[in-house]
Amino acid sequence: MQMNNTYDFIIIGSGFGGSITAMCLVQRGFSVAIVEKDRHPRFAIGESSTPAADMILRDLAESYDLPLLKKLSRYGSWQKHVPEVVCGLKRGFSYYFHEPGQPFQSSRDHSRELLVAASTDDKNSDTNWLRSDVDQLLSGYAADLGADLFEGTQIEKLNRSKDAWQVQAQRDDEPLQMSASWILDATGSPVFAERFLGVHSSSDGFYTNSRAVYSHYTGAGRWLDYLNENSFYTDDYPYNPDHSALHQFTEEGWMWMLRFNNELLSAGFLIADNMGSENPKKPAEAQWQRLCNRYPSLKQIFRNSNIAARPGRIIQTGRLQRKLGRVFGNGWTALPHTAGFVDPLHSTGISFTLSGIRRLLPILEQLDNGKLSVPDLNKYEETVGKELSFMDMLVSSCYISRFRFDLFTASVMLYFAAVITWEQRYLSGNRDHAFLCPDIPDLYEMVSDTHGELLMLGSGPINDKKSAGLIERIRTRIEPFNRAGLMDPEKYNMYRHTAVTLS
Ligand SMILES: Cc1cc2nc3c(=O)[nH]c(=O)nc-3n(C[C@H](O)[C@H](O)[C@H](O)COP(=O)(O)OP(=O)(O)OC[C@H]3O[C@@H](n4cnc5c(N)ncnc54)[C@H](O)[C@@H]3O)c2cc1C
Repeated sequence: MQMNNTYDFIIIGSGFGGSITAMCLVQRGFSVAIVEKDRHPRFAIGESSTPAADMILRDLAESYDLPLLKKLSRYGSWQKHVPEVVCGLKRGFSYYFHEPGQPFQSSRDHSRELLVAASTDDKNSDTNWLRSDVDQLLSGYAADLGADLFEGTQIEKLNRSKDAWQVQAQRDDEPLQMSASWILDATGSPVFAERFLGVHSSSDGFYTNSRAVYSHYTGAGRWLDYLNENSFYTDDYPYNPDHSALHQFTEEGWMWMLRFNNELLSAGFLIADNMGSENPKKPAEAQWQRLCNRYPSLKQIFRNSNIAARPGRIIQTGRLQRKLGRVFGNGWTALPHTAGFVDPLHSTGISFTLSGIRRLLPILEQLDNGKLSVPDLNKYEETVGKELSFMDMLVSSCYISRFRFDLFTASVMLYFAAVITWEQRYLSGNRDHAFLCPDIPDLYEMVSDTHGELLMLGSGPINDKKSAGLIERIRTRIEPFNRAGLMDPEKYNMYRHTAVTLS
């Protein structure tokens, strides 16, 4: 490939965020380089997609003539067109409530289970993305369209003068020099921005306080098999929970389980650090083992499992909540996942990233002599900030209420009410608004009032009377946004369909 070393945009990072942004800019005629420190296929976390993400993919596919993105927007079309790219079937969101030292218990009316379908059948379902495969596909596609992709490349020096960046990088033993009008930080981490762009990241102001211990596993048992072997009533399940974003709630926090078609399982414990229940200084393996041992049903699922070759180890993070002090500056802009992150609880990462890119692209397309509109970038920054704060309250509400499954099932409905409202707005053509609609005052109040009340309850067990009162207030608060029969006692925690139908 002939490499041109002067670009309109250099994108740092070739996760799906960087690669999709590159594709769209190339399709609008811009010259783009993507600089990636690793080489594909490489391990990446953040796999569970949602109807909101699918909608944006389809929208970008149409607006930028990128048919591949439409193929990835549903399980059926993915399997038809790119079956070699591994994904998993994700029919919805499932939640189970565990108590320490006890095998999982529930009743015929599903008092400790909640299943919320997001699609009516497998063909139209969402997917779990095996990120190593998906990111390799997308970065390759961006390169095929005309972006210059530099893998295994580290930026060493950045200098901006006369509305252009001079960049020095190193690819293996080869020094590279390039220049660009604008840099997009798609690294999904604050490290690059802190080192080269002079901004700082902080956890200040977040209510959520969690960290993760995770890996990919082979040979892990299936949750539905466990339920059936132990005679739990599953006849009225809207879908197989192994084909969903499976959340196992524990005293310490919760565990995600996301299954792929090749039988790999992505699994991770989220630990609420304000519990002080786990020592982050212990090795990741010891923390994982201790948590599994505390919950006999989870231990059973992992009894014959092995850590997958990629990543080949258990990874532990520090506190996940972070936000950059600025999201843009002279000659640079950060993509959403670089700008900040809350927690994977509501699987908002992919849709938050895509919705930010969807709003950012028209701003980037106005690039003129190394300049972009500052008022437009300010608006982008303000919106990303509001989205992060709003997601924080939605997530924090669920962490606080997780000690009582009845209150948790009410709290999680705040998220479903918000995302369904966002999806309906998006489908009606109103596509530039903030993700999850924190800009709708009544919706914002629904969340902030409930979160405020939950905070007053403090952390730890919540008594029956207080919980019942709050559940009723949540029911009243979500009513104006409740178009999917959420919190209907007749449904016994089994919701057959909540997402809007895509054409
Ligand atoms: C524990 C955890 C679980 C998550 N689970 C979910 C989930 O279930 N669903 C969901 O929607 N989201 C989830 N997320 C969020 C999800 O990971 C992000 O939304 C997603 O990764 C954003 O994609 P991205 O392409 O913007 O960034 P990333 O995926 O972070 O990609 C960044 C890329 O930049 C490269 N890079 C980094 N630094 C440099 C550098 N200095 N130079 C060059 N290249 C660099 C990296 O190698 C990588 O390829 C989770 C996040 C975490 C932390």
